[in-house]
Amino acid sequence: MSLSVLNGTTGHSESKSVTKDKNMRPATFEYLAPKTLEEALELVGDDSRPLAGGQSLIALMNLRFATPEALVDLQGIPDLTRISDDGEFIRIGAMASQADTETNSIVLNSVPLVAECIREIGHWQIRTRGTVGGNLAHSDPASELPAVMVTLGAHYHLASKRGERKIPAVEFHQGAYDTALDPDEILTHIAVPKQKPTERSALNESVRAAGAYAIAGTTSILERNNETCLRAKLVLFATGSKPYEVQGLNSVLVGKELNSGSFSEASELVASQAPHFDDFHATAEQRKQIFRALSERVLQETWQKFQVGSS
Ligand SMILES: Cc1cc2nc3c(=O)[nH]c(=O)nc-3n(C[C@H](O)[C@H](O)[C@H](O)COP(=O)(O)OP(=O)(O)OC[C@H]3O[C@@H](n4cnc5c(N)ncnc54)[C@H](O)[C@@H]3O)c2cc1C
Repeated sequence: MSLSVLNGTTGHSESKSVTKDKNMRPATFEYLAPKTLEEALELVGDDSRPLAGGQSLIALMNLRFATPEALVDLQGIPDLTRISDDGEFIRIGAMASQADTETNSIVLNSVPLVAECIREIGHWQIRTRGTVGGNLAHSDPASELPAVMVTLGAHYHLASKRGERKIPAVEFHQGAYDTALDPDEILTHIAVPKQKPTERSALNESVRAAGAYAIAGTTSILERNNETCLRAKLVLFATGSKPYEVQGLNSVLVGKELNSGSFSEASELVASQAPHFDDFHATAEQRKQIFRALSERVLQETWQKFQVGSS
C-alpha cells in the first residue's frame, strides 16, 4: 500500500490518497482529515462517508459492501467528543467513544441506562474505538444503543452546509442500516433527557456468547408516584429492522401498583407483538418465549431499582 500526502481540500485538512494495491482489500479511497466541523461539512456528500472509529465501516469496505471514494475522518474534531449537562439534557458528542461514555460521571449519574447499555456492546477494546454516533448512524437492528435512545426519548442533532436540524431517535432509525441522515449530513451530538428521581430504567438481552450481538433484547423505563406506576415504556431490539416500542403497555401497567402479576401480564402482551420469524439463532416460537422472559425480567429489574434505591 502506498500513501501520498496531498494538499487538504480546504487548506487546513490533511488528505491522503490511498492507491490501489493488490494486497489491499478495500477499493481505492481518499482519506481526508478535517480539523473543524465546518471543514468536514464541506467534504461529506454522495461519494464520501464520515469515518468515526471504523469499527463497522472499515469492515464493510474490506468486504467491498461499501466503496466510498473518500473517507472524512471526524477524529480530529475535538468538539464532537464533548459530553455535557445543560440542566435538562445530557449532550453526548457523536465522536465520544463508547468507553469514555460508559465511564463518564455525568452519564453514570444522569442517564445511567446509556452506561448500562454500552457495557453490553462487544468488548472493551471495541468500545475504545467505537463511538456513540457511529453506532447510531450505523443503525444495526441488533444494536442496544438505538433502542435505548428510543426508550429515553433522545433527540439527534444533525448538521450540514444547509443548516442544522434535530430529529427524535424514533424517527431517525428508519430500518436496518437505514437512517434519516442525508449524505451531506453529520450527526453532531445526541441530547438525552436526564433521568428524573421518579424514574428507573433497565436493559436485558439474550446473547449466544459474551460480547456478541443480541439475539433478542428489551429496554424499559418506568415512572412512579409512591407505589403507583405513572408511565411505562418497553422497547424491543434485535426484533426486526429497527427498535420497536411495545403498544398498549399503559393499559396494563399505568395507574396500578406493580407486582409480579402485572409484569407477567405485560410479558404476554410483548409475546403477542414480538416478531415471529425463524433464523439460524432461534425458531419463531423460541424467539417469542425469549421476548416473553426478557420483558418480564427487564420490568422486574427496573421496578427493583426503586426498592433498593439504585439508579
Ligand atoms: C467484534 C465486534 C462486536 C460488536 N458488538 C456490538 C454489539 O454487541 N452491539 C452493538 O451495538 N455494536 C457492536 N459492535 C459495533 C461497534 O461497537 C460500533 O458501535 C459500530 O461498529 C460503529 O463503529 P464506529 O463508531 O467505529 O463507526 P464507523 O464504523 O466509523 O461508522 C459506522 C457508520 O456510521 C457513519 N458515521 C459515523 N459517524 C458518523 C457521524 N457522526 N455522522 C454521520 N455518519 C456517521 C459512517 O459513515 C458509517 O456509515 C461490534 C463491533 C465489532 C467489530
